[in-house]
Amino acid sequence: MQTYTYVSKGKFELMEKPKPVLMDERDAIVKVTLASICSSDLHIKHGSVPRAVPGITVGHEMVGIVEDIGSAVTNVKPGNRVTVNVETFCGECFFCRHGYVNNCTDQNGGWALGCRIDGGQAEYVRVPFADQGLNKIPDHVTDRQALLVGDVLATGFWAARISEIKEEDTVLIIGAGPTGICTLLCVMLKNPKRIIVCEKDEGRIRFIHEHYPEILTVSPEACVDYVRANSDHGGADVVLEVAGAESTFRLAWECARPNAVVTVVALYDKAQTLPLPDMYGKNLTFKTGGVDGCNCEEILRLIAEGRLNTEPLITHTYPLNRIEEAYTLFENKMDGVIKVAIEC
Ligand SMILES: [Zn+2]
Ligand SMILES: [Zn+2]
Repeated sequence: MQTYTYVSKGKFELMEKPKPVLMDERDAIVKVTLASICSSDLHIKHGSVPRAVPGITVGHEMVGIVEDIGSAVTNVKPGNRVTVNVETFCGECFFCRHGYVNNCTDQNGGWALGCRIDGGQAEYVRVPFADQGLNKIPDHVTDRQALLVGDVLATGFWAARISEIKEEDTVLIIGAGPTGICTLLCVMLKNPKRIIVCEKDEGRIRFIHEHYPEILTVSPEACVDYVRANSDHGGADVVLEVAGAESTFRLAWECARPNAVVTVVALYDKAQTLPLPDMYGKNLTFKTGGVDGCNCEEILRLIAEGRLNTEPLITHTYPLNRIEEAYTLFENKMDGVIKVAIEC
């Protein structure tokens, strides 16, 4: 079968590999219908994910049809349409039992698919712990509507869930890339009084205005003053930092009012400083990233009810045999791209 494979630093290549087979009684084989490209795939390509294993098939955001299941799998059966979770988790260890599935202690626990084991930018993928990692897509939800459930949408949902958002709050979201917009959609479900999105890219700002006209937007340069002027207590009650740029961590805590919650979803290339003397007395609560992707069933229900819709984020579609073009487009942010769907 065709796979898109991490060959070496800077090099991904389409190559033929044997179709995966069941290796454990809790595995499932999924025929991938749609996959997507994530910025984490680019991090692997550029060598900034040290645990990524050369030779693996990349891709960790996908939907498909269950082809085969191991003898211990009970939640799905062949023929089911499913979302695949970015995280592999056993469901039994201390962390899994508390919902902290990102820290599952199994050797494949956490982000394994498309990083340490073969992922889903391919015709088929083997999913360990299939009862945990697969969720059935409701009948009237399309593959495109469900494509982002297992990764960027799960991340946005988790970020909104842990941020203690109340209805009187002004919420600031820094970054309107795919994860930022998914975070926005999930924050909107909490009905805060005001949502401000900080983003430097004009195309993304236009996208926000076009699809979510009630959302306020601001550039990073104007952000501190704007948030002070447009909040009730001298800063945002909740800040979600989803940009991960050079100065956005500082911006996040600067825009927060005293006693705010600052949730850091972003993955940084470099260490950030926490200048405690500067923020002394602000009494902030920081929550830091690494999605616990264990709410996919609820997310699918919200999609089925029409309360979450990420389809507008899928701006481009390519067949698997043209995935290189899709990467070029995504990596260079060409043609207003937000997310690319790959038909496998
Ligand atoms: Zn991802
Ligand atoms: Zn576990």
